[in-house]
Amino acid sequence: MACVVNKGERTPIVFFGHGSPTTILDDIRTTDAWREIALAIGKPKAILCISAHWCTKGVEVTAMESPPTIHDFGRGLPNELFDVQYPAPGSPSLANRVREILDPLPVKMDHNWGYDHASWTVLSVAYPNADVPVIQLSMDASKPISWHYEMGRALRPLRDEGILIMGTGNVVHTLAQMEWNQSAEPHDWADRFNNLVIECVENDTPERLFDHQALGYDAAMSIPSGDLGHYWPLFYVLGARHQEDRLTINPRHVQYKSLSMMSLLLDSR
Ligand code: ZN
Repeated sequence: MACVVNKGERTPIVFFGHGSPTTILDDIRTTDAWREIALAIGKPKAILCISAHWCTKGVEVTAMESPPTIHDFGRGLPNELFDVQYPAPGSPSLANRVREILDPLPVKMDHNWGYDHASWTVLSVAYPNADVPVIQLSMDASKPISWHYEMGRALRPLRDEGILIMGTGNVVHTLAQMEWNQSAEPHDWADRFNNLVIECVENDTPERLFDHQALGYDAAMSIPSGDLGHYWPLFYVLGARHQEDRLTINPRHVQYKSLSMMSLLLDSR
């Protein structure tokens, strides 16, 4: 990758709608968009990844030199997905920096997690050479949405240190209402809620999305109460937003009737 994030430049921030692990095998519309996003960003010094798949009690950060690739999905998926390895190095020094920047919040140094499929599916397309160090930060599952947003705000200075803050989730994630057909039209509620989130991002009004339960039927259907983990990563990214960032949203579609692939880039360069 020729383009690099230059020293002294503010690093962009990115949210990826990761969807099913099979996205990397059969959804060219999405993978092309992920590649475009990575080309626009360039090669950062390191990546801090907030993944929908790592929800914990308290906050943890991966601190190993070589994080393993985790195949956190069921046996029903194609074998080639189980063969994927994403060998990007970790970064204990960045893990320490994250702990320092979040102080006095306790942050546990983790040596057991690694790259879950919310991370490596996207990264294997966006940064296929696996030559950018990546760490993951867990999300405290006991906290409200506004707290996750404030975490993004606290992490924002990392943008001035060459670090790419990346969230990976899905703003509509209702597995029970999915239909395994790429050309199926989205449920009305899924489409409306996806559009509401896009509208709030475009207008920079994230606080409208904080009280998830007050958003009514469309939100309740799109983000089932037991699965807020796919919703939270977006708020870390929006918390790290600067007013002068320019927004690009691509793709913006809802796939399999109830899975939003909406991804966005915020870049002030
Ligand atoms: Zn997921």
